[in-house]
Amino acid sequence: MELFDTHCHTHEMVRRITPVYDKWHGDSMERTPESVIDAAHEAGVSRMLCIGTSLADSELAVEFVQNRGNMWTSVGIHPHEAAEALQKGHLDALRALVTSPKVVAVGECGLDYFYNHSPKEDQITVLKAQIELALEHNLPLSFHVREAFDDFWPLFESYRGAGLRGVLHSYTDNTANMERAIKHGLHFGVNGIVTFMRDEAKLVTYRTIPQHLLLLETDAPFLTPVPFRGTVCESKHVRVTAEFLAKLRDENPEDLAAETTANACALFTV
Ligand SMILES: [Zn+2]
Repeated sequence: MELFDTHCHTHEMVRRITPVYDKWHGDSMERTPESVIDAAHEAGVSRMLCIGTSLADSELAVEFVQNRGNMWTSVGIHPHEAAEALQKGHLDALRALVTSPKVVAVGECGLDYFYNHSPKEDQITVLKAQIELALEHNLPLSFHVREAFDDFWPLFESYRGAGLRGVLHSYTDNTANMERAIKHGLHFGVNGIVTFMRDEAKLVTYRTIPQHLLLLETDAPFLTPVPFRGTVCESKHVRVTAEFLAKLRDENPEDLAAETTANACALFTV
């Protein structure tokens, strides 16, 4: 089985950039990036995409993937970091970083109105800048959209016809937004959340995402799937999510793995 973790923060293990990623050291397991990568390979997770969340974090991710096989990175500003990025003028440096080797996407970028760690106007400004950066370099986007589709769609659709492509990472929203995303050819990143989802309507959504738009991810170190809740999430956990999802969708796990990996390789051109 060959799986692709299309959204992880594994690079955050090596240097403290944002306190939230101290979670990498949140259980009693001894971990190194090598042990995490080896364990992923053993589980069949042969490809990984590290995701940048701020300028400093994106710089670290770029450095981290350079000498590692089958690992790539995105560079981007998470909506939580939008205000600081604007204050410090980080968008110009991000524009320079995007041309680094092994950068295959822009993001994670988007709108998060659940936490609102940055003002909405700042989130929108920084999202637009990243959409334009992706278009300029013909790169796909990794979107983080939480309780914000009412603002996301008009903004996204204002670029209609420009050739935007990408993935709605950690998709947990409803069927109406799924259908709207399908119309635009957007991909859906599914992670460990599906294994502990109780909302029957959302399980229906997971069952109906078209296979050709489905990607697998972890968001490691977060969102550990059942039955490993309580431990730190690693890329190897894509495997149990794939097996769970295959069962939910009544599909062969080998086929689901092959299809989602092919989808990811095509989207990120790797
Ligand atoms: Zn993430």
